[in-house]
Amino acid sequence: MAENFHQPTRMCISCRERGLQSDLFRLCCVDGELSSFAGIGRSFYLCKTCLDDGKKLSKALMRQCRSNKREQLMNKLKEIITDDR
Ligand SMILES: [Zn+2]
Repeated sequence: MAENFHQPTRMCISCRERGLQSDLFRLCCVDGELSSFAGIGRSFYLCKTCLDDGKKLSKALMRQCRSNKREQLMNKLKEIITDDR
């Protein structure tokens, strides 16, 4: 879309689609634990569509956080996105 051309886009770690930064959730991992981005460390983005695709999403999260605690990551994610909405 032309009107979005100058807005920053970021890639979703799950589907690898690019989206507007404002449409994505910015997250990070601290010591294998998922967290909302607080301005430090390496962050990554998730699109809203992927939030509904739990299976694919959990794999992407485990990869990003180098963790195999799928349930812990998914529970934390739910907490974070609930707070944001
Ligand atoms: Zn996505």
